[in-house]
Amino acid sequence: MQIDGLEGWAKDYIKPMVIAGPCSVESEEQFRKSVKPILEKSDIIRGGIWKPRTRPGSFEGVGEEGLKWVNAAKDEFGFKFTTEVATPEHIELALKHKVDVLWIGARTTVNPFNVSELATALQGVDIPLLVKNPVHPELSLWKGALERFYKAGITKLGAIHRGFHTYDKNKYRNPPFWQIPLDLKSEFPDLPLICDPSHIGGSNQLIADISQKAMDLNYDGLMIETHYNPKVALSDAAQQVDSYQLLDILSDLNLRDERFTDLNHLSQLELIRQQIDQADRELLEAIAIRMSLVEKIGEYKKENNVAIFQVGRWKEIFKSRPEWAKKMNLDPDFTVEVLRLLHQQSVKKQTEVFNKVEAKTDLNE
Ligand code: PEP
Ligand code: MN
Repeated sequence: MQIDGLEGWAKDYIKPMVIAGPCSVESEEQFRKSVKPILEKSDIIRGGIWKPRTRPGSFEGVGEEGLKWVNAAKDEFGFKFTTEVATPEHIELALKHKVDVLWIGARTTVNPFNVSELATALQGVDIPLLVKNPVHPELSLWKGALERFYKAGITKLGAIHRGFHTYDKNKYRNPPFWQIPLDLKSEFPDLPLICDPSHIGGSNQLIADISQKAMDLNYDGLMIETHYNPKVALSDAAQQVDSYQLLDILSDLNLRDERFTDLNHLSQLELIRQQIDQADRELLEAIAIRMSLVEKIGEYKKENNVAIFQVGRWKEIFKSRPEWAKKMNLDPDFTVEVLRLLHQQSVKKQTEVFNKVEAKTDLNE
């Protein structure tokens, strides 16, 4: 994909590009009060016009009327505006009212039928489009949606990371699973990556830390829900920050350099990388040794007609190794994950040994 960078359509921004504004446009007054104090620090103002609510009966957005309020404020203050579109009708109305940037919500990205329909509606339209990750942690759906829009001719594309739903109790509303957006970025290095700490955190107490983490990982921008008085917000009240909090969060961000520029740092980095390379080599050698022992034990079990899996041994491994790991300052949960993978591979190897047909030696047979 040949994606236009943010410079192509968000010209004057200084990293991070900031998208801020209320979860929903609720009234003309609420929108103006929420937006005015943050204009200077925001590159784009957000505001939901049509709200995809999980359960019926909650506030579902003000619809087209809200776009008129937005345009009145735009005429007075001058800013770019973005909103979520989920149906071809939303797209039509958003274009009619000159919305500057569109975004696709998590509940839409998850559905390829829906995405296709929207891509068709956007065919030939030159507008920046940001695609949120799908609700559940599946990278291919996120990529699929981006590819569908790209094929429809949208090149001003970006991705918004808003976290993923899990059923587990968690400190996050939608745990970030950082590896997924980083995998996306490795595949499409030109794709701007924007973090939405509001929907990841679900609480305004978590916004600063998540935003900092995104900066540490070299994200291009942040989308932060901001309301003049979050307590009275009609949607996502717990996660919205007020204007002062937004300004504090932004000014406290520690922005990292993209790469090392100082030569001393660079050689130090090289040195550590060489040590990491060596450690990886030793790690793989240790795994190779373990696998050859697994093969040996597989042969032995087969000769003696003993089953591959013995629950007692499995339990013993899962008890002792995390204890060893703890003494080595390793996270026991991480250790259990590694052991699970090793065990899976070990069972696979032994099954191969069990199923191996002995080579025939008698050529006449
Ligand atoms: C939103 O940004 O207000 C929203 C509904 O987001 P998501 O699609 O991430 O749930
Ligand atoms: Mn919201």
